[in-house]
Amino acid sequence: MARRMADCRRWPSESSCSLVIIGEEDEVVRAAAEHAASVHGHEDTPQLREQIRDFLEPAEAYVPGPRAQEPLPG
Ligand SMILES: [Zn+2]
Repeated sequence: MARRMADCRRWPSESSCSLVIIGEEDEVVRAAAEHAASVHGHEDTPQLREQIRDFLEPAEAYVPGPRAQEPLPG
């Protein structure tokens, strides 16, 4: 199974979060949802997990260093 990435640097946040999570899709979705809840004050809901799943990128897309932020989709 291909590894996937959730990159917090991609989104604006109060703390300019630099966390990147890479692993198998289910692991990443779970870790990213727990992170969004504990660090960013989101509610860990099935909808949030679905949204995170949609935002995942291939692990190969990882680049070290700063990254341009995108506006958080509504
Ligand atoms: Zn974060």
